[in-house]
Amino acid sequence: MKRARKRILVTGGAGFLGSHLCERLLAEGAEVLCVDNFYTGARDNIRHLTANPRFEVMRHDVTLPLYVEVDEIFNLACPASPVHYQHNPVQTVKTSVHGAINMLGLAKRLRAKIFQASTSEVYGDPAMHPQPEHYRGNVNPIGVRSCYDEGKRCAETLFFDYHRQNGVNIRVARIFNTYGPRMHPNDGRVVSNFITQALRGEPLSLYGGGSQTRSFCYVDDLIEGILRLMDAPDDVTGPINLGNPDEFTMRALAEQVLRLTGSTSPLVLQPLPSDDPRQRCPDITVATQLLGWQPQIPLQQGLRRTIDYFIDHLGLGDSQPAA
Ligand code: NAD
Ligand code: UDP
Ligand code: UDP
Repeated sequence: MKRARKRILVTGGAGFLGSHLCERLLAEGAEVLCVDNFYTGARDNIRHLTANPRFEVMRHDVTLPLYVEVDEIFNLACPASPVHYQHNPVQTVKTSVHGAINMLGLAKRLRAKIFQASTSEVYGDPAMHPQPEHYRGNVNPIGVRSCYDEGKRCAETLFFDYHRQNGVNIRVARIFNTYGPRMHPNDGRVVSNFITQALRGEPLSLYGGGSQTRSFCYVDDLIEGILRLMDAPDDVTGPINLGNPDEFTMRALAEQVLRLTGSTSPLVLQPLPSDDPRQRCPDITVATQLLGWQPQIPLQQGLRRTIDYFIDHLGLGDSQPAA
């Protein structure tokens, strides 16, 4: 058991990525403290873990100080979908910035290694494609997405200042769009929207003309990348891009979802949201070289698993997935 007896804090542990991370850490023998304020997370995401005596859940908001004793910290707490993070933008900034300060203060006191879930959104609407880590981004500081983008940029700044000033052992990953089971069905993200719409026989909402691109990483691949970064030698601080470089237009994604669900739903064009990046694709050369990591699960396979999850968990089963 690779992490036997390690006490590990996962903030945002009841969310989509956090619940998968908690599950994997428990499987590796760790004691896991899941801290979450259940803003976008759900008890259902972690219900299957609660019988494990090495798993503990604490309702807590990371914008407030936290005094616990742990060996490692994974800081994932933050709403991640545009609908949720724009619902209360001031709270989104506080979660990223005050949350980072508190978790870094905790890491400093405990001399604990700390991971930060940063994001491809630090690149904004990128003028360089695909995006390598040295690209400094094109973020609108006053736009509707900036509470998330600038909050995460400031969190990165704090991580590197605590590292330089206090010697805190940091790991920063810039995570690109990730999907899979336990995505929130109503958070407005494209993969969950298209799948639930297709399964319900509703039109698929294609924003803009659907020519904008994204690159989607299956959750299991992403968790593997996060753990490899955490286990890498101490000079590997990041930031490191973690994502799947296979890039698709949103129209191609919609067509693929229709095919896999066997749905005959039409596509309806809706306006492109403000500041929506035109394209996004990670350059994962650094992750490949330093972590020996690259995604293994192609989009079609990951989408099938995600569709099965939505059928099982949401009673959305009228149309069965195509073989
Ligand atoms: P999620 O919304 O499912 O999970 C976030 C979790 O954080 C939720 O359980 C929520 O209740 C909790 N939370 C929010 N504010 C909090 C606060 N103030 N105190 C305590 N808990 C709080 O989102 P996710 O997709 O699992 O994302 C997890 C992390 O990964 C986030 O930091 C996000 O920015 C980052 N990320 C995700 C993606 C992606 O595609 N899923 C991409 C880039 C970065
Ligand atoms: N903090 C925390 N838990 C700890 C230690 C610190 O939540 O175990 C928080 C506390 O709110 C503090 C912040 O982290 O304000 C930053 O800590 P740091 O030691 O860097 O600064 P200071 O205590 O001087 O504000
Ligand atoms: N999108 C879409 N239909 C939807 C939801 C999103 O066409 O129902 C588009 C959205 O405009 C964006 C892309 O899909 O270009 C990815 O959106 P998402 O909110 O999933 O992630 P992000 O914009 O943060 O990458």
